[in-house]
Amino acid sequence: MSWSTIIKSRRDWEVIPNLHDYRDARRTFSWDKARRELDGLPGNLGLNIAHEAVDRHAAGPRANHLALRWLGKKGEVQDYSYAELRDLTNRFANLLQRLGVGKGDRVFVLAGRIPELYITALGTLKNRSIFCPLFSAFGPEPIRARMTIGQAKVLVTTESLYQRKVAGLRSSLPFLEHVLLVSEGQKPAEMPGTYDYHRLMNDARSQFTIGSTDPEDLALLHFTSGTTGTPKGAVHAHNAVVAHHITGKLALDFHKDDVFWCTADPGWVTGTSYGIIAPLTNGITSIVDEGDFDAERWYRVLQDQKVSVWYTAPTAIRMMMKSGTGLVRKYNLRNLRFLASVGEPLNPEAVVWGQQALGRPFHDNWWQTETGGIMIANYAGVDIRPGSMGRPLPGIDAAIVRKTEEGCVEEIKESGVQGELALRPGWPSMFRAYWNDPERYKKCFTGGWYLTGDLAKRDEDGYFWFVGRADDVIKTSGHLIGPFEVESVLVEHKAVAEAGVIGKPDPVAMEVVKAFVSLKDGYEPSDALRRELLGFARTRLGAVVAPKEIQFLPTLPKTRSGKIMRRLLKARELGLPEGDISTLEGT
Ligand code: AMP
Repeated sequence: MSWSTIIKSRRDWEVIPNLHDYRDARRTFSWDKARRELDGLPGNLGLNIAHEAVDRHAAGPRANHLALRWLGKKGEVQDYSYAELRDLTNRFANLLQRLGVGKGDRVFVLAGRIPELYITALGTLKNRSIFCPLFSAFGPEPIRARMTIGQAKVLVTTESLYQRKVAGLRSSLPFLEHVLLVSEGQKPAEMPGTYDYHRLMNDARSQFTIGSTDPEDLALLHFTSGTTGTPKGAVHAHNAVVAHHITGKLALDFHKDDVFWCTADPGWVTGTSYGIIAPLTNGITSIVDEGDFDAERWYRVLQDQKVSVWYTAPTAIRMMMKSGTGLVRKYNLRNLRFLASVGEPLNPEAVVWGQQALGRPFHDNWWQTETGGIMIANYAGVDIRPGSMGRPLPGIDAAIVRKTEEGCVEEIKESGVQGELALRPGWPSMFRAYWNDPERYKKCFTGGWYLTGDLAKRDEDGYFWFVGRADDVIKTSGHLIGPFEVESVLVEHKAVAEAGVIGKPDPVAMEVVKAFVSLKDGYEPSDALRRELLGFARTRLGAVVAPKEIQFLPTLPKTRSGKIMRRLLKARELGLPEGDISTLEGT
């Protein structure tokens, strides 16, 4: 499919899209106007995400509207209206106060998609503490690294995750004061150094008044990965809610009677910005499914819950495509009105498959942890170019730039030329820092641009096309993995001298983590050792981060300064030209 392939926007709308004239929307947009769609705290006390998401609806005509419907793995259903969500999140905020947890303190959550996670997130924001989700499939090492960097004061998790992944780390987390466990059995298991989440909730009052919140007060901490060093904690302020709200409207086309399902896990930024905040600020119903991917289950959720707006990811779409159109035909998906995708390149075939199998095309959009919200999108009322990420949101200035030899950044104005995707800083959900790492933050900005680390092109009509990453980070099933984090664990094994980690292309997951390993003297490559290393990495890192493949090499290619050349490992893996190897050791 070429750049000129277009899926024309339908004009027989049953609901008029919020954005159907792109140029006009850009011309008339201002962030001040977007801010005025929100209430602000009563008494002019500032702007708080949880007030906009919950309390303002609970105090008005939508108080009894279904805010969140939770679907448990075993078929359980729990419904929460806006008023119920207000009371529960008030309880959690009171509970934090009783524990002496205050403004700016970090409250971490390690859990699957359970109701307590959502209540914790919003209650934490009410208390003006900082919410930090951890992906529940992480192993102990990524958990320890992130909790150490973020200096977690509170951790909310489940009994089994605590036992399996955290209990053994407690002595290396001296700043962690409170651990709240969500029990999984009939009776809470009593574990030393922990509280029973539900007992504390029952004891807490359901009235709470949110304190004065400056829009710049920090609210959310999301970890992301770079090529080198430790994970980076991107921090967002309460002001981000302006972007969450308006992108929900413009990029996901939320209308007041929508039932929205975001399939992302709240361990990652999409699961917070769009799995928690944006649907609630827009006052709509949000579906949370605890279950893992299963094509039949997902079609059933779409059908039974009458989902009208669905936000998912390319890996899942490709897996649904594999299950064939025969399966999809068994379900009544008449309620689906708008489909969107994020996280990895969405191949044109998947866009078109949406149209054929679900009666609607997928709308790709682009953003990243640092941007806090959707930046580039295909819109409900605008033609789609399959394979393109779309055009910048109103209020967002995006460009393709190149670095000059002097180290400056210049915009590439010609269309079709590859460069780095850059954004003009200043939108409300832009990250305000990398937690305790000002140097790394500063490096992201040059010449008045925020540099995204992605390579892209822009066509003559202003649509952006993803080309690849400018660095070595790996995208596997939508999760961003830092090779350094994986290499650091592998070299801790007694047999491993060096490790180099790359993303190996994969037709479904986009990339899988592959490690190249050289062994210390006295160790020989063998299948048994390979299996041992795979198991070692899996136990320490968790299934999503650990390598799926390990290949032994006598030595790894390095620069003269001793850095492993992942680029070269990847080129060799793919049988591609090796490029500039002038810095290769031994040349
Ligand atoms: P994360 O910070 O984990 O959300 O990952 C952000 C990265 O995912 C981006 O910098 C891109 O490399 C990739 N990404 C996100 N959305 C898209 C998209 N629509 N097309 C291609 N890559 C994407």
